[in-house]
Order: sequence, then C-alpha cells, then structure tokens
Amino acid sequence: MKIVEIDHPLIHAKLTELRDENTPSHRFRKLTEELVSLLAYEATRDLAVEHIAVKTPVADTTGVKFAEPVPMILPILRAGLGMLEGMLKIMPQAEVGFLGAVRDEATLKISTYAERMPEDLKERHVFILDPMLATGGTLITAALTLKSKGAKKITAICLLAAPEGIESLKQKIGNDDFTLVIAGIDEKLNNLGYIVPGLGDAGDRLFGKAD
Ligand code: URA
Repeated sequence: MKIVEIDHPLIHAKLTELRDENTPSHRFRKLTEELVSLLAYEATRDLAVEHIAVKTPVADTTGVKFAEPVPMILPILRAGLGMLEGMLKIMPQAEVGFLGAVRDEATLKISTYAERMPEDLKERHVFILDPMLATGGTLITAALTLKSKGAKKITAICLLAAPEGIESLKQKIGNDDFTLVIAGIDEKLNNLGYIVPGLGDAGDRLFGKAD
C-alpha cells in the first residue's frame, strides 16, 4: 500500500479552517470541494492514458486522452458525497458509483446499506472518496468489494486519517495496487472512534445531523 500525504500550504490552510468548530456547513462544503480538487491532482498522477493524434491550427501533433474504461469515482455515503463535486471538477469524464456504509457507534462495526456500481470492474481504476479514515473499517469494506469485482487499481482519497486506521488498512489490504492520498495524518482515535484532533463528524459538519 502506498501512502501519499500531501504537504502543501494551501492544503494546510484549508484543513485548518475545516477543523475549526466555528466553520459553518456551507463553508465546510466549499473547503472540502477545494481540498479534494487539490488532492485529486496528485491522486490522478498515474491515470492510464492513450496517445492520440491532434491537429492544432498550426500543425499535426500528438496528445493523450483517458484510456478505456474510464475511471470510476466511488463516494462512500454519506460523507463522501461532499467530496464528489471536487473530484468531478478535475475528472468530469469519470463514471460515478455509490456505496452506502454506516458505522455502529457502539461497536464501531461497519455495515453497508446501498451499492450501485458495475459488477465487472476489470481494467478499472477506482477512486474511493471518504473524508475520515478512522478505524479503517469502511475503506477496507469498500476496497474488498472493489477487488472482488476485479478493480485493477484503487486510490482512496481521504482528508484525515488516524494511525490506527492506516495500520489496519495495511494489514487487511497488504501491498496490492492500493494508494492512499491524504491531507493529514492525526494523532490517534479517541474511545468513541473519533479522530483526534480531527474535525468532528464529517457527515454532520457537511450536511447537518438530519436525525
Ligand atoms: N468519522 C468522522 O466523521 N469523524 C471521525 O473523527 C471519525 C469517523
């Protein structure tokens, strides 16, 4: 598993504002979108392309376009939805699947409640969007689902991770073609399963509690 932690002042400044408990939802959504676009730039570095001919007003030359099948973006409902727009801005040609996952707050166990994606993901590069890598349970579930459908390459884009979650991912996913692109790795998980210092519940901060 490859981990790419992006060290950039634009990312640090946006992340700081995101962490602030006084940042309102509308601003939180905008910052998330901007952060994801910045992370996506790095996350798409090894995207497969094919060479094509192009005619400029001046001369014939060559360029590239996305190879087929086009990449798939997989936001994990609900918080990953807040990351979708930022990713689509960078890669509008991609297809979008959905996976709904929820964490039992008492046991911290993950269960899935919705899935929409092709049965066959052979040759696909899939980008999982999930803002908080806490215990790692959701990402592991998503990655194993994608692997069972034959995904060729998986890149997870997260905003923050806890070391415990990264360790668990390494053990369960191993060294397969899996890359984690992340804005920051925090100190630890607290006993409620929240990342410390983190930013709180990403879903609630993006969309409200909606209880
Ligand atoms: N999910 C969140 O939204 N926040 C955390 O800190 C951990 C999991």
